[in-house]
Amino acid sequence: MATEVLVLGDGTGGIVTANLLASKARKKDLQVNVKLIGNSPMHTYQPGMLFLPFQKAGYRRPSDIQRPTARYIKAGVEYITDRITALDPESRTVTTEASEYHYDWLVLALGARTVLDDVEGLPDFWGKKAFGFYTPASAMALAAALERFQGGNLVIDVAEMPIKCPVAPLEFAFLADEYLRKRGLRDKTRITYVTPLNGAFTKPVCNDVLTHMLVEKGIEVVPNASLAEVREDAMYCPDGQEIPFDMLVTIPPHEGADVVDEAGLGDGLGFGVTDKYTLKSRKADRIFLLGDGTNVPTSKAGSVAHFQADVVVHNLLREMAGEDAEPIADGHSNCFIETGFNKAVLIDFNYDTQPVPGTFPLPVIGPMSLLKETYANHLGKLAFKQVYWHMLLPGRPIPLVGSRMSTSGKHLEALEQHA
Ligand SMILES: Cc1cc2nc3c(=O)[nH]c(=O)nc-3n(C[C@H](O)[C@H](O)[C@H](O)COP(=O)(O)OP(=O)(O)OC[C@H]3O[C@@H](n4cnc5c(N)ncnc54)[C@H](O)[C@@H]3O)c2cc1C
Repeated sequence: MATEVLVLGDGTGGIVTANLLASKARKKDLQVNVKLIGNSPMHTYQPGMLFLPFQKAGYRRPSDIQRPTARYIKAGVEYITDRITALDPESRTVTTEASEYHYDWLVLALGARTVLDDVEGLPDFWGKKAFGFYTPASAMALAAALERFQGGNLVIDVAEMPIKCPVAPLEFAFLADEYLRKRGLRDKTRITYVTPLNGAFTKPVCNDVLTHMLVEKGIEVVPNASLAEVREDAMYCPDGQEIPFDMLVTIPPHEGADVVDEAGLGDGLGFGVTDKYTLKSRKADRIFLLGDGTNVPTSKAGSVAHFQADVVVHNLLREMAGEDAEPIADGHSNCFIETGFNKAVLIDFNYDTQPVPGTFPLPVIGPMSLLKETYANHLGKLAFKQVYWHMLLPGRPIPLVGSRMSTSGKHLEALEQHA
């Protein structure tokens, strides 16, 4: 009898996991039926949504960053387009709108979504004075609003943590600075970056570097401020602090999938309660989780989902062979941060080692630099789109970049200096 593995969620993490599992099972001559279930027949390259508001070359419309999901599903994976409505870990069944499926092992990769209703007033002003770029449609509405913008108070805000790609709002701030300078509007615009964190990023060394860059570009930082309410001309924090705006760009609160909580697998916000080292559910057997929908303490990023897919597939195959899952996930995350004017910063870190300066992926040679603005990093950011479509999504290894973080090329002494 073939083993039934259901992978739920047809985004980055689900596609990579299903592809990798099918190809490894085939190489090992295992009888495994891999089914991938999700409701996104068009796949969006989400990092591309950052560039849509600025109408950068190659990022003019949603179709520039979308491709049919089915094109990326490899042999050995059955792709089912459907909405998942319930999970039952007891009977090991998954219910969708159209059918019901039994599993031997389940992988949850249901991602995270933005929830406007969590902020009082936000739905009323969305698309009028408050904008976002975490969906293709909202990014296009923001592009039109920026084109109309003639200066004033531009507030860029992170409503609360966690969010996907915690550096994306920072990148937006840097690109807004560039965009407004090129349009001759920077002198007429005050840019304010409002964040619930105590600075630009969560980890101290990186926080210092990025906060300094914001300040250097004349972007005012308001730390420790989450978003409670939006009115026509101002946003309000829970302590009543008022921050006036002419245009608000906010990253709304994020939640995971309702079905995860309803099945008793979540933390109350839809994020699956996950062992951060094995990526197994801490609530039920034979369930693994990866990507934005977990509660593990690392960035919600495509690179993370890709690295985690290796661990999930490794541990799935071990459990199928009657062995224990190994605690090998290290929270590896690798992100380019576009900083404007054709430069970018690269960060590479994990649960234990925060981003530090250095070279990547090779010591000394690089060619990319860690925690430093360079043109080579910007080229890396642009190249990531092709790497994503041709290597990451199909589940091919990316040369010199392992699923576990390497310390090679990293100047770890910066941590001591910072301590
Ligand atoms: C603006 C922006 C910029 C970003 N930039 C970067 C970057 O530069 N680098 C980087 O590494 N990451 C970046 N990311 C983050 C990255 O895109 C995500 O971390 C990644 O897509 C996570 O993969 P996932 O599989 O967990 O979730 P997703 O890719 O979001 O996939 C979840 C899938 O589950 C499906 N699903 C959910 N619920 C159901 C249901 N009930 N029934 C059926 N299907 C369901 C959804 O349709 C979706 O296809 C960025 C994200 C944004 C928004």
